Amino acid sequence: MSDDLTDQFVRVRGAGEHNLRNVDVDIPRDAMVAFTGVSGSGKSSLAFGTLYAEAQRRYFESVAPYARRLLQQVGAPHVREITGLPPAVALQQRRGAPSSRSTVGTLTTLSNLLRMLYSRAGTYPPGARRLDAEAFSPNTVAGACTRCHGLGEVHDVTEDLLVPDPSLSIREGAIAAWPGAWQGANLRSIVNGLGIDIDRPWRELSRKDREWLLYTDEQPSVLIAPEPGRIDHGYNGKFWSARKHVMHVLADSRSQRMRERALRFVRSVPCPECHGSRIRPEALAVTFAGRSIAEVNAMPLAEVAALLRPVADLPDAGPATPGAESGESTEAAVRICADLVARIDVLLDLGLGYLSLGRHSTTLSPGEAQRLRIATQLRSGLFGVVYVLDEPSAGLHPADAEPLLVVLDRLKASGNSLFVVEHDMDVVRRADWVVDIGPGAGAGGGRVLYSGPVAGLEDVEESATGRYLFGRAEPDERSPRSPRGWLHLKGVSRHNLRDVSVDVPLQVLTAVTGVSGSGKSTLVTQVLAEVVGGHLGQTPPDHDGASPELDLRDASGLESFDRLVLVDQRPIGRTPRSNLATYTGMFDAVRRLYASTEEARARGYTASRFSFNVPEGRCETCQGEGFVAVELLFLPGTYGPCPTCHGARYNAETLEVTYRAKNIAEVLAMPVDDAATFLADVPAASRSLRTLRDVGLGYLRLGQPATELSGGEAQRIKLATELQRARRGHALYLLDEPTAGLHPADIALLVRQLHGLVDAGNTVVVVEHDLDTIGTADWVIDLGPGGGDAGGRVVAAGPPTEIAKAPGSATAPYLARRLE
Ligand code: ADP
Ligand code: ADP
Ligand code: ZN
Ligand code: ZN
Repeated sequence: MSDDLTDQFVRVRGAGEHNLRNVDVDIPRDAMVAFTGVSGSGKSSLAFGTLYAEAQRRYFESVAPYARRLLQQVGAPHVREITGLPPAVALQQRRGAPSSRSTVGTLTTLSNLLRMLYSRAGTYPPGARRLDAEAFSPNTVAGACTRCHGLGEVHDVTEDLLVPDPSLSIREGAIAAWPGAWQGANLRSIVNGLGIDIDRPWRELSRKDREWLLYTDEQPSVLIAPEPGRIDHGYNGKFWSARKHVMHVLADSRSQRMRERALRFVRSVPCPECHGSRIRPEALAVTFAGRSIAEVNAMPLAEVAALLRPVADLPDAGPATPGAESGESTEAAVRICADLVARIDVLLDLGLGYLSLGRHSTTLSPGEAQRLRIATQLRSGLFGVVYVLDEPSAGLHPADAEPLLVVLDRLKASGNSLFVVEHDMDVVRRADWVVDIGPGAGAGGGRVLYSGPVAGLEDVEESATGRYLFGRAEPDERSPRSPRGWLHLKGVSRHNLRDVSVDVPLQVLTAVTGVSGSGKSTLVTQVLAEVVGGHLGQTPPDHDGASPELDLRDASGLESFDRLVLVDQRPIGRTPRSNLATYTGMFDAVRRLYASTEEARARGYTASRFSFNVPEGRCETCQGEGFVAVELLFLPGTYGPCPTCHGARYNAETLEVTYRAKNIAEVLAMPVDDAATFLADVPAASRSLRTLRDVGLGYLRLGQPATELSGGEAQRIKLATELQRARRGHALYLLDEPTAGLHPADIALLVRQLHGLVDAGNTVVVVEHDLDTIGTADWVIDLGPGGGDAGGRVVAAGPPTEIAKAPGSATAPYLARRLE
């Protein structure tokens, strides 16, 4: 392969990954290139599946030639030739499963620097030894708090759990956590022997006695006298406090049932030793600028920058003196602070100043996580690299997207190329070059419709992108509906919402808007979901497990809803065994269809035989997975197609059964669009298929594993599954950014469905950034004005035309421009 790096283009020849149809395309380097097209058209297959995958493959080949054979097994991208391809870095959106210990500080590597600062330049208590940087990390043996092992919380018992009914006496079983039967009677005898009244209601015992009974580590032995009818001989009984008993069961019991029972009495509480900071007291005693490292970790980044900036700007710093108690005005302090402040400034530029270093990565939105990664890359000083980005603007308010674009421009200016899969037409307009793929999705796409400077796309008739980019698309006209009543929430507090009152109109489409961190998700996916779900007796969705109790003064209007439906972006399943067909339930109909064929009946195959989860029907080599793990030490979790079934997942006998000349594996391989024709006579399946097409998912394959779906696709599958129930009603639908990751043409489809739900009597509330969608809403609740502490208030509420004029709203100017 000839590689001429003086050529300013990356030249792709014969790309055929997934649906790409033998694509030839030339893409400029040192430019910002937007890859556009409706979802499923093949943008990611070209940008990630071909360009990035090939760059990655070449990199591994160069560092580990012996890996070649293994890499071949995994499969190189389907492309004849690529020339001029620089090394690539991918910044993908997919919500991975970040480890629960990763935080904003570890993701950005700022934590390392901060620990170095405390180690070298902190102020130590008199006589204390200087600590290694490691000692400030909860993730090292040297630093982790010994009580909670660096987790920041411990399981502990609480009085309200141990004693659910304080009106009972000990004899009546007040201490629910104590064992029952003989052991329980024994403990009661011991308590009696200790002189505590076991017939008084629990709440009337002295505080000292109650605490001792529940929490003491003491285990006095008491001589128990013989009791007629219970014990014949006296003996020495050993006391166990309720906590000691519960902890003993949790630590030592082999009985799953006992352990489960014991778990009912414990709750995670902040670690009493480190107060949740996860590090040891010696490290917490060290300060910088008057703060411990735990305090700095808990501060918003904007405050951290303000705290350290004076040191970074210190004019004449001295050298460090070994053994000195403080290194705060030394050269080391100035250097490290300057580095920290410069890095934090990038995050502030990106509108993330409200995050703290200690914030768990599992609680970040994908948009926040991607901006953190971009900021980290920006400081890494690489040049001559292609950054392949997945919709950097997704999930961002237009006011947050602007600074991000400035940062991307800086990446480009320092000599890199940016390949960006993008749907936001405002971002596409700023690109130097656009590669538009289409015209449709799946088999209806996969061609390059245009590759060149943005202006030239105007003349490409068949491009959906061109229609939206140059304003040729027909806007969806509808007149705003009026609310049919209200849900009033008063005095709501959670995260940055503090004593806020919100009124949500009924039987209309409401968009909740505001910059990143203003409180939209907290309000919609947590507060509304918990309040309405709680009223309906539905179990509240388990968020990150990290959210504090909801505080709410008053709510009215809850009785207007008979159902709550939360349509979020969480995966529809975590294993490749769940897929589109299984999730929507249509696979049951397909399996029944195969079982009803003559061939299946002759062989005695039932519907369960056609499941790839059942031993009779599935391929034994891969146990019905369709792929097998490939041993690649440096690429954990790499898979290759199963050598026996080649991905079909079934054994040969099962595949001999056909319906209309297709076996069941071939049906799973069909896109929804084709299956709609193929299964037209199967009512249960065709209803699902129709709703999937209605939300723009006609390009997905029926067997597409849950793990391959983007968050936006998962969300639309959930919505389609809801739509297929299609009943009139008074449900509350809550959606978090349903349009993220969608082409404007797909957004139009989706929004039509949401309006359909409202027409059927339901209430829909969406967290939304897309201005076209906000413009078609009946009502807007704008939160802000800023993120974090600068947000959390209702800035304006009303129909879109009024929000566009609202003073102090970050959304207003953008909406005004759009509604012109
Ligand atoms: P876009 O990025 O434009 O949304 P993709 O490149 O993700 O589109 O998908 C293009 C087509 O390739 C779709 O029909 C999709 O279903 C299919 N596809 C995507 N990933 C895979 C895969 N791992 N295996 C087979 N087909 C795939
Ligand atoms: P939005 O959806 O508008 O981007 P969020 O509701 O996600 O805003 O966040 C509002 C505020 O609450 C932000 O300051 C954010 O940092 C904080 N926050 C969100 N989730 C958590 C959490 N799990 N723990 C602590 N703070 C959180
Ligand atoms: Zn601790
Ligand atoms: Zn197999």
